[in-house]
Amino acid sequence: MNSIRNFGIKQILIFIFILILSIAFSGCRHISNKEKKLVKISSVIFDIIIDIRYATTNNFTGKKLYCNPYCYLLSSTADKLKNVQSELTEKELFLKIYDAYRPLKVQKEMWKYLADERYIANPLYASHSRGAAVDVTLVDKNGVDLDMGTEFDEFSKKSAPGYFGFPTDILYNRILLKKVMKKHGFIQSTTEWWHFFDKDWKKYPILDLEDADLRKLEDAD
Ligand SMILES: [Zn+2]
Repeated sequence: MNSIRNFGIKQILIFIFILILSIAFSGCRHISNKEKKLVKISSVIFDIIIDIRYATTNNFTGKKLYCNPYCYLLSSTADKLKNVQSELTEKELFLKIYDAYRPLKVQKEMWKYLADERYIANPLYASHSRGAAVDVTLVDKNGVDLDMGTEFDEFSKKSAPGYFGFPTDILYNRILLKKVMKKHGFIQSTTEWWHFFDKDWKKYPILDLEDADLRKLEDAD
């Protein structure tokens, strides 16, 4: 009788052990090489507008932080963004990208400028440095930016998507951007209307690429 009971307990313990293991590893989905690969966004989305502010002095640091206006994302994130643009094209609207993949070195430099996690991510877990975040706005068919209430990289409470002290047309533009991005797999920052994370961003590693690495990607294109 005891051995039968022991056998039963042993089976239950093995079952619980397997259950714990399966729960622990359920979040560790295998990431294929294709998903980890950075791709040039303009090669995936042909009608996208690119205005990489950190390749100019027109950004919050006042310094040119990129040698070239590189605009790369993880392949899987770029695919999601392509779906966003496809939907926007039907409305005669276009995405304009201010930033995408951000080299770790640049993230660290920004962090030195402003170590405020409401606006600049700690380099230890920055989503831009994984190639899984994008800063975007909307542009109409005449090339005019839709009014979002503040400029890109205005670090104030008015930049928060939860700030509603704007006229209806501005709120509508903000809601439209959020709605279409969310529909295709992006999560909006709570402090910056322009910043969106790929919903899977935490699954991807930080990619510490130098300017020379990006140049090689550019040449291989
Ligand atoms: Zn951002």
